[in-house]
Amino acid sequence: MHDIADKALRRLGASLSDWQLIPSGTEGYRKAEVTLGGVDTRALSSTTMMAREVPGLYFIGEVVDVTGWLGGYNFQWAWASAMAAGQAVAEAARNGRAVA
Ligand SMILES: Cc1cc2nc3c(=O)[nH]c(=O)nc-3n(C[C@H](O)[C@H](O)[C@H](O)COP(=O)(O)OP(=O)(O)OC[C@H]3O[C@@H](n4cnc5c(N)ncnc54)[C@H](O)[C@@H]3O)c2cc1C
Repeated sequence: MHDIADKALRRLGASLSDWQLIPSGTEGYRKAEVTLGGVDTRALSSTTMMAREVPGLYFIGEVVDVTGWLGGYNFQWAWASAMAAGQAVAEAARNGRAVA
């Protein structure tokens, strides 16, 4: 190491830690695994997933504007939001309120 010039070491370091990948494109809808966009989260209660403007109307999972990295985050969102909405719907049904 002592005999190698700083410039060469910096070049070596950069080649190991500063390399970049530039995607050349996407695989398109055929391989798509998650969608961007959807129902604005600000329009929903975060505890029940019910639409603030339309009592009794619930949205969960993919249709909501929540997008996770691949690796289980979208499943987790779908299940967690469904759990929250399911509990709220059950509660509403017990109290005789209409839900959709
Ligand atoms: C190929 C692929 C791989 C994926 N891999 C991962 C992964 O590894 N990890 C991860 O976290 N996420 C992954 N995802 C994303 C994940 O699958 C979704 O985010 C999640 O399944 C969304 O759940 P959901 O219940 O909201 O919607 P969906 O799972 O899409 O369920 C909606 C359901 O509604 C039904 N439906 C639609 N219209 C009607 C209608 N008019 N009447 C009655 N039923 C209807 C559909 O048939 C469907 O069964 C992947 C997605 C794809 C496509």
